[in-house]
Amino acid sequence: MMRAEPPASATLHARHGRYPQATSVEDFRRNLAAVQQRIASACGRVGRDPASVRLLPVSKTFDEAHLRLAYAAGCRLLGENKVQEAQRKWQAMSDLADLQWSVIGHLQTNKAKQVARFASEFQALDSLRVAEALDRRLQIEGRQLDVFVQVNTSGEASKYGLEPHAVAGFLQALPAFPALRVRGLMTLALFSADVARVRPCFVRLRELRERLRDHAPAGVSLEELSMGMSGDFEIAIEEGATVVRVGQAIFGARAMPDDYYWPSADQPSTT
Ligand SMILES: *Cc1c(COP(=O)(O)O)cnc(C)c1O
Repeated sequence: MMRAEPPASATLHARHGRYPQATSVEDFRRNLAAVQQRIASACGRVGRDPASVRLLPVSKTFDEAHLRLAYAAGCRLLGENKVQEAQRKWQAMSDLADLQWSVIGHLQTNKAKQVARFASEFQALDSLRVAEALDRRLQIEGRQLDVFVQVNTSGEASKYGLEPHAVAGFLQALPAFPALRVRGLMTLALFSADVARVRPCFVRLRELRERLRDHAPAGVSLEELSMGMSGDFEIAIEEGATVVRVGQAIFGARAMPDDYYWPSADQPSTT
């Protein structure tokens, strides 16, 4: 297949095919160490402490056997994009008592019940209906949930998340849902190989956080910024990410084209 090499300044999105499948605990250990090294280098460039960045391994599309290898390599929190898939894996792996689950994809109200049962973190909150449904189910379960408010920083109509101007009002409504522990903001950057178009998405999220921080209602924290994935997490860290969500650089390239998860006009088909 003919494909032009991306320019040196490009993000790694265009090179996803280069991540080999991890098929042993050793592979996972090596990949995790390599990602931690990339995190440390990015932190070094901007004078940040690598301990201020949490790595969230994203296991979506990979099967239970691979998730168990990741667990054996030390992963104790895994990110999943789709609720049904996450719930299935949670059930299958319930023997691993200290394994926790982060739901990082869009949630429909009718799936809130499931998330309230098994997730320890939900990163894609963008509607009060979902907040209310989650809170109600969490109260029944006697649980709490860490949540991130998802913001659309790319301006793409196809992306989930609140418009930046709507976030302040949204945050004011969240103290009504005491089972939700609001930790910060989350975004997906424009899916592009062009750094000059990706970085402004991360800058937008950080600047929004700076603006809103002092006005957030009591109990609503904006300390965390979840942004950056395999192809762009170094840029996100340079712009202040405290959580990076990394799948392919740990598990290997996904068979599924990425526009299955992020329908986007910007993105050429990766198949
Ligand atoms: C899949 C996914 C990621 C990780 O993407 P990779 O390219 O596998 O690193 C990050 N965030 C969200 C919301 C995702 O769905």
